[in-house]
Amino acid sequence: MHDPEYQLREAVIALKSLPHTQLIAQSTWIWSKPVGDVIQADFLNGVVAIQTSLQPLELLDALQAIEHQQGRVRTVHWGPRTLDLDLLLYGQESINNSRLIVPHPHIKDRLFVLEPLAEIDPDLCLADQKTISQLIEKLKQDLK
Ligand code: ATP
Ligand code: CA
Ligand code: CA
Repeated sequence: MHDPEYQLREAVIALKSLPHTQLIAQSTWIWSKPVGDVIQADFLNGVVAIQTSLQPLELLDALQAIEHQQGRVRTVHWGPRTLDLDLLLYGQESINNSRLIVPHPHIKDRLFVLEPLAEIDPDLCLADQKTISQLIEKLKQDLK
């Protein structure tokens, strides 16, 4: 099934249903072109903020369980998949272990992440003290 809007709607319902978790904010969904050389449909992207008492690895387990419930199957790296749930930030924490790197290592390289993130938290300052709008400007310059 290829219905990105449906997949994201279902993912948000699943996130809301996690134990000890509330949905705080949700961006609009934006389309982006796929990265890499694999020929595939455009991606639909968005960012949500949740409040949770799940620990980071418990939350990662939960995100991966939702991906699998929604039938995620992927055969090629950066190829098509039904759903990809990345943990972008966990409060102010920095995490680096074999399963989880937070902040997500590619936040600053991806407009399809920065733009919806800015919608839900325009004052956000990422680790190197740059505001999210400065990061967006820089990335747009770099992409020119
Ligand atoms: P990218 O990370 O470039 O967006 P991807 O989302 O396609 O790539 P996946 O195949 O979904 O990559 O994930 C590979 C592994 O990345 C996961 O099994 C997970 O253990 C690990 N990982 C590390 N940091 C994170 C994070 N912040 N959020 C989600 N997964 C993470
Ligand atoms: Ca990803
Ligand atoms: Ca992922």
